[in-house]
Amino acid sequence: MTRPVSWEANMAYKITDECVSCGTCEPECPADAISEGEDIYVIDPAKCTDCGTCVEVCPVDAIVEG
Ligand code: SF4
Ligand code: SF4
Repeated sequence: MTRPVSWEANMAYKITDECVSCGTCEPECPADAISEGEDIYVIDPAKCTDCGTCVEVCPVDAIVEG
C-alpha cells in the first residue's frame, strides 16, 4: 500500500479560539460531531462529515475549514 487512505482528508472543519462557547452549533450538527470542550467547543474529526452546517450558524465565525 503506497498510498494509504488518509483520514485527515476529512478534517475539513475545526473550531478556533474565537469560539465563545455559545452552544449554537452543537445541536445543529447532523453527525453529532460537536461537543463542549474544556475551554471551547470542539469538533470530532472522526464524526464530522464536512457538511458545513456549523459554519453557517456560528455567530462569531469561529468555525473554519482546517
Ligand atoms: S461540518 Fe457538519 S458534520 Fe462537521 S461538525 Fe460541522 S455541522 Fe457537524
Ligand atoms: S456556534 Fe461558534 S461560538 Fe458558538 S459554540 Fe459553536 S463554535 Fe463556539
